Amino acid sequence: MSNNQQINFADWQDETLAIRYGYHPTQEGEHGEAMILTSSFVYDSAAQAAARFSGAEPGNIYSRFTNPTVGAFERRLAALEGAEMAVATSSGMAAILTACMGLLNAGDHVICSRSVFGATQILFANHLSRFGIQTTFVDLTDHQAWQDAIQATTRLFFLETPSNPLMEVGDIGGLCAIAHAVDALVMVDNCLMTPILQKPLALGADIVIHSATKFIDGQGRALGGAVLGSKALMSAVYGFLRTTGATMSAFNAWIFLKGLETLALRMKAQSEQALAVAQWLEAHERVEAVFYPGLASHPQAELIAKQQSAGGAVLSFRVTGGRAEAWKVIDAVQIFSRSANLGDVKSIITHPATTTHGRVAEADRLAAGITENLIRLSIGLESLTDLKADLARG
Ligand SMILES: *Cc1c(COP(=O)(O)O)cnc(C)c1O
Repeated sequence: MSNNQQINFADWQDETLAIRYGYHPTQEGEHGEAMILTSSFVYDSAAQAAARFSGAEPGNIYSRFTNPTVGAFERRLAALEGAEMAVATSSGMAAILTACMGLLNAGDHVICSRSVFGATQILFANHLSRFGIQTTFVDLTDHQAWQDAIQATTRLFFLETPSNPLMEVGDIGGLCAIAHAVDALVMVDNCLMTPILQKPLALGADIVIHSATKFIDGQGRALGGAVLGSKALMSAVYGFLRTTGATMSAFNAWIFLKGLETLALRMKAQSEQALAVAQWLEAHERVEAVFYPGLASHPQAELIAKQQSAGGAVLSFRVTGGRAEAWKVIDAVQIFSRSANLGDVKSIITHPATTTHGRVAEADRLAAGITENLIRLSIGLESLTDLKADLARG
């Protein structure tokens, strides 16, 4: 522990931060991020208990809102995103809900990209609306539409970039300029890129959302999420979380700490594989279109080069035909997992129209481009040769 005092973490690259930041090796073991599985903590005296509860003395109280393992994960992810503070949550959706409940009030208006994760769309359209928070959905790339949707009560812009599953890229800096001109906050779901490939806060965003369930874990073991940003904003988010309890478990935080250690390596390797699959699909005669933010043919290649350091592991494509043809490909694979997950070292194949976006109203789904012949892939670390042969089967 004593050594850390002399280290200037600002000099460290992401690969080192992800493995060593806040690392306190103990004599018990090289892997000092102990998994502290306890609901509550004890105090030396009544006075200490009072000091902990009043906040006069920092320290642990109760794992709904303070746990050392969860804290270690929060600090390491914050270091990677360049955030002052992170708040870990029980899932990615809990991160979005907790952030919105902590930062918005009844009467506030939200502008949200139309092509966000299915559950995110439903959260804004069907649930936050019941508490007096109204949302207007706009096209991610149509800046005039964001501008025109602004109302006197607009408090938040919400976007995901690249969008899932169509891999459209939102100009984070450009949308921040529009939002900040009217004092609205910008919240970016950075799940598909992770801080290894994209840092929204450095591009001007106020809040970053993560589903740790995806790439941060990387091996499909646990659900978790995080909200990141300035101390002032995160204090409000944390205030809501500590009362309402959509908390990350210590066990899951320990898994995510292990996931962070290999995140940089996985993101780079999976991006390389995904690019190769995308190029191969693009040349395939039974493929109508390929959506991958790493292809030279992507309409926003210039913006992508500025904003992302690689294309990531997720891509989608349209087969010639409709649902029957798409399902035929999905049912023919022997290696790809038929799952709605993404971000795993195991490659995954998904039919968005009937799974992740199945509960979205058909008109909204089609407006977002989620057609019946669309297939989403999350590329893992299996052999590229085997993955191509597996897709070719369908
Ligand atoms: C999966 C996902 C979420 C939700 O995360 P959970 O951990 O499943 O709650 C949010 N945003 C994106 C982009 C996702 O892929």
